[in-house]
Amino acid sequence: MKRFVYADNAATTRLSPAVLDAMLPWLTEGYGNPSSIYSKGREAAQAVLDARRRVAAILGCDSSEVYFTSGGSEADNWAIKGTAHRLAAQGKKHLVTTVFEHHAVLHTCAALEKEGFSVTYLPVGEKGIVSPRAVEAALREDTALVSIMAANNEIGTIQPIAQIGALCRERGVLFHTDAVQAVCHLDLDVRRDNIDLLSLSAHKIHGPKGSGVLYARKGTVPWNLIDGGGQERGKRAGTENVAGIVGTAAAMELAHSRMGEELPRIAALRDRLIEGALQIPCTRLNGDRERRLPGNVNLSIEGIEGEALLLKLDARGICASSGSACTSGSLDPSHVLLAIGLPHEVAHGSLRLSLSEENTSEDVDYILEVLPQVVEELRAMSPVWERMKAEGRC
Ligand SMILES: *Cc1c(COP(=O)(O)O)cnc(C)c1O
Repeated sequence: MKRFVYADNAATTRLSPAVLDAMLPWLTEGYGNPSSIYSKGREAAQAVLDARRRVAAILGCDSSEVYFTSGGSEADNWAIKGTAHRLAAQGKKHLVTTVFEHHAVLHTCAALEKEGFSVTYLPVGEKGIVSPRAVEAALREDTALVSIMAANNEIGTIQPIAQIGALCRERGVLFHTDAVQAVCHLDLDVRRDNIDLLSLSAHKIHGPKGSGVLYARKGTVPWNLIDGGGQERGKRAGTENVAGIVGTAAAMELAHSRMGEELPRIAALRDRLIEGALQIPCTRLNGDRERRLPGNVNLSIEGIEGEALLLKLDARGICASSGSACTSGSLDPSHVLLAIGLPHEVAHGSLRLSLSEENTSEDVDYILEVLPQVVEELRAMSPVWERMKAEGRC
């Protein structure tokens, strides 16, 4: 029987009904401007203040270190460009990152290179994990910032950010982490892990789209992002997205409170999905098997086209992705899969299934029923597959 299974939670997640409930008053009667003096304004300001405290408690920082943004991309841009511009005045014009960051980081670094900054892009090896020693070796006298994601959005690999944070702190270099995929999925604490700047996004954890956070440790606040009114301590002006901010805090609190019971359950679903999918001949798992996000499965299935696979899965009610959502539509294989050494043709046949707390055991059963059938159908009409079989490669 056809079902509907949403298995693309790394692209976005469904807004949780409890989060919507928390937001609704601020989209309706609570329309006051937080900067206004009368009580309708003060109530909105109080809601923003509350949200800031709740976010800070989860990140392990002070609420004065939380800046609300329009999402993960904005937080990444602000952290990197704002820090580069701030420290360029001290002659620090070098950045260190990895080759498999999200485009919000990579394209930001490329923009800085055009302005005359230099950037070192570290490799991540075939397991998809950057080595702290390579980070250390890349540091220079003029290094302003190290930006390394906490977990990769395509292959789910978890990076040794606490080690990287410790060595950056020791060397006096600022450390930013894109934690969009990691927040509420991994144990993070900005103080313990020596993180100076951190980006997160609400819509990856069942919160609203267009809402996120930049954490910036005291004394490491990047240059102003938006000049205007005094919002976000004058660093990021513009009337606050009160509902989005309240929704971000609600989503974080909800996800955080469920980590203990949900993450092991999701990881067990992931493991069953991996085990089942690897029964399909000539299929491999991309990224380290152990050090990966609880909900991430990323496969390369030889002899098929990822796009064709997605369409066939969609016809059977399964939402998944190949490469990242931002690049599907282009024919270039994912930069992440190329970074871990996959040949182009293998990278083209990749499939990412990402699970969340809304997925069930029945979802996994259904995917494991449909996926092998769909792969067989596609391979039956694939000349590439024919050739591979004829050459005894599969
Ligand atoms: C989704 C994502 C982003 C972008 O966040 P938006 O809120 O969609 O702008 C950045 N980095 C990573 C790792 C992501 O997964």
